[in-house]
Amino acid sequence: MSSRTYTSTSADANSSALTDLNAEERSRILAKAALFSPPSATLSDGRRDLVGLSRDELTDILTEIGEKPFRTKQLWHWIYHQGVTDFSRMSTIAKPLQQKLAERFIIGRPEAATVQTSSDETRKFLFRFRDGQEAETVYIPDRREDRGAVCISSQVGCTLSCTFCHTGTQKLVRNLGAAEIVSQFMAARDSYGEWPSPKGETPRLLSTIVLMGMGEPLYNYENVAKAMKIIMDGEGIGLSRRRITLSTSGVVPLMDRCGDELGINLAVSLHAVRNDLRDEIVPLNRKYPIEEVLAACRRYPAASNARRITFEYIMLRGINDSEADARELVRLISGIPAKVNLIPFNPWPGSDYKPSTREQQNRFAEIVMSAGFASPIRTPRGRDILAACGQLKTASERARASSVPVSE
Ligand code: SF4
Repeated sequence: MSSRTYTSTSADANSSALTDLNAEERSRILAKAALFSPPSATLSDGRRDLVGLSRDELTDILTEIGEKPFRTKQLWHWIYHQGVTDFSRMSTIAKPLQQKLAERFIIGRPEAATVQTSSDETRKFLFRFRDGQEAETVYIPDRREDRGAVCISSQVGCTLSCTFCHTGTQKLVRNLGAAEIVSQFMAARDSYGEWPSPKGETPRLLSTIVLMGMGEPLYNYENVAKAMKIIMDGEGIGLSRRRITLSTSGVVPLMDRCGDELGINLAVSLHAVRNDLRDEIVPLNRKYPIEEVLAACRRYPAASNARRITFEYIMLRGINDSEADARELVRLISGIPAKVNLIPFNPWPGSDYKPSTREQQNRFAEIVMSAGFASPIRTPRGRDILAACGQLKTASERARASSVPVSE
């Protein structure tokens, strides 16, 4: 952990108490995350997956088999720049070493248990990992340009039970490992054939990552951070930190650390402007109420006018969509470099919520926009394959949890 003190400039007693509290909370969250660790990266035949190792770990593992440190750079290039999964395709490595590597290691990918493409071109992957657990990844292409966002999962299931979220009805099974997080992106790129990794400003089809799939990424911080560092490494996939957004329900003690260590964009699932309502919709609010979440946003190191914090706001008819709510939202976020994503609720079997009317969405958006905050109303994508926001849930769980037939 960085030694930086995670407070604003104030050095008064209150803020130092907050720092202590946050440090304690951070340790508690990280200890809890360890209880839901992913399985070992070594296969039953003894071969180890090289994906998900940091450069230092890769060097250590190569040293153990008598190879020089310069091999790290070579392998890194083949794995993350060229995207190869077969050692025999590594043409800069002599055949005997290729064979030696293949006997000891693999370059893994999750199995694509199902791949569904929506009528709007959104593609949803259900990835199955080595222990049989599954998580969903969604590619959302931009309608106007040849680029798009990959929505990645960080956990199998979720502990947070946000009431509007289908994913949240699947209890937490375990955290995903760094390899499983990185390889969701790599496997999605396999599907579109986007290798080698485009360099610099060369356009990318899979151009951004949003950590908005299954799970709360800050409850699996260590694995998420390791995975993002691999993805951002300039000699491999090389995706800029500006093109990665982590979405949190407001795990305050780790928001500072995320901004400080990774410098990626932040999105906050706000969804309500009063604590009593947010306690209900996003139960994590009982632990980290709105004021604390917004204070963490105000000190988020990577936020600026060029890189605004996104506040996600799901529009629930008659619940959180009044004009008074819109005005209070504006008051709460004033002074934060921010934009607001208004998300029409995506109904799912078993939920009582209804989407706000179009008229109400527009009125809400106008109030926020006239206060100077961009407030696009998101068009739901991939609805027909249950790939839209908050709809992710693995098919097996879905079948178990609901007797209502869903079109798959
Ligand atoms: S919205 Fe995110 S944090 Fe909340 S239950 Fe769904 S997956 Fe979990």
